Amino acid sequence: MKNETAQQLYHEFAKDMPIIDYHNHLIPEQIANDINFENLTQVWLYGDHYKWRAMRTNGVNEDYITGGKSDYEKFEKWAETVPYTLRNPLYHWTHLELQRYFNVYDILDGKSARKIYDECTAKLQTKEYSVQGLLRMRNVEAVCTTDDPVDALNFHQQIAKDGSDIKVRPAFRPDKAMAADDVAGLNAYISKLEAVTDLSIADFDTYLQALKKRHDYFAANGCSISDHGLEQIYAEDYTDAEIKAIFDKIRSGKDLEHTEVLKFKSAMLIYFAIWDHEKGWVQQYHLGALRNNNTRMLSQLGPDTGWDSIGDFSQARQISKFLNKLDTEDKLAKTILYNLNPADNELMATMIGNFNDGSVAGKVQFGSGWWFLDQKDGMIKQMNALSNMGLLSRFVGMLTDSRSFLSYPRHEYFRRLLCNLFGEDVENGELPADIEWLGKVVKDICYYNAKNYFSL
Ligand SMILES: [Zn+2]
Repeated sequence: MKNETAQQLYHEFAKDMPIIDYHNHLIPEQIANDINFENLTQVWLYGDHYKWRAMRTNGVNEDYITGGKSDYEKFEKWAETVPYTLRNPLYHWTHLELQRYFNVYDILDGKSARKIYDECTAKLQTKEYSVQGLLRMRNVEAVCTTDDPVDALNFHQQIAKDGSDIKVRPAFRPDKAMAADDVAGLNAYISKLEAVTDLSIADFDTYLQALKKRHDYFAANGCSISDHGLEQIYAEDYTDAEIKAIFDKIRSGKDLEHTEVLKFKSAMLIYFAIWDHEKGWVQQYHLGALRNNNTRMLSQLGPDTGWDSIGDFSQARQISKFLNKLDTEDKLAKTILYNLNPADNELMATMIGNFNDGSVAGKVQFGSGWWFLDQKDGMIKQMNALSNMGLLSRFVGMLTDSRSFLSYPRHEYFRRLLCNLFGEDVENGELPADIEWLGKVVKDICYYNAKNYFSL
């Protein structure tokens, strides 16, 4: 922390606020069964494509990353990589996570690997280190997972029935239901949808009916958030007749023209958004990833294994057209926009100001630095753009967007950066040294804004 004001803001106002982690990729089954991970590799390296990328970059063979080597051998390669991650967020995250969960203050490297592995693995066997225990350790009040519309949500039901003190809610992520680039894949998905809805989906109206049924089912199971992972917003003009014809073509198994794909995606986004508005949900759009760049590794390991990057898609006009269409019809739900390309920061910070209607503070939000931008520089730039062009004070703050139960110190990381910004401004004479007021704003951004914004 850079100065006394920042330290005071962090320790007196930010540190003890509970965490509302409103978007992540935790596995509901693991929470429902409150499992203990067998060892440090399984809780820390399995599924963590950030670490995998760093290991590959450091020249580690894939056998030690996603291959058949033992859990300890994989950990050792990670430990040897850690010193080389200096100035990457992984370096800070790694040591914060060792400190906050395991009380380990050693630097992780090849020399300390064995000791740290054994010490942490032993702790992971105890009740305190079950996955719900790990969430409790970081004062997590609520988590929202990311779920497909065909998901049964049985684990969410189990968690609710067991009466956990941590709220675990699903989020509706219908990306596959609009992925018309791959007609065969979409038809396979429609078969799954038929199975869970008991509907025979021969036409577009029935397709909508089936998806709406799942949207209702998610709501009945405590869902109040949707999420979309897209290269960009699709906002082509279309007619109902065109969409019906495109859907018939999909069902006949014929590939679509590019414009048909765009029209179909545009229509689906509007339907989902209207349902979100009807139910008072928050809709989230994660925009701008260029995914699966390496086809050789995609065929070997599947998606989300560390072969994605920042894309350079054009964003502004289509977001504007999409939000405007919804706003014009008074069907715009609370909305959070996340960009992956930092060049879009100011674009997003000004776009959100176009569609606030006075119904709720910060109705349209510029989401926290995401994925490649979830690091010191990325978060500071996001907060500065939001400060300069919007109201930082109404920001719903941080989320992990993580697959790991050990990622919660990222909220601490964010809170420290936030307090530093305020502290520096006070030291520079740009903000009054009104600790009560600044402290209130800090608490709002860390907790209360999200608590009020999301109906959890
Ligand atoms: Zn996500």
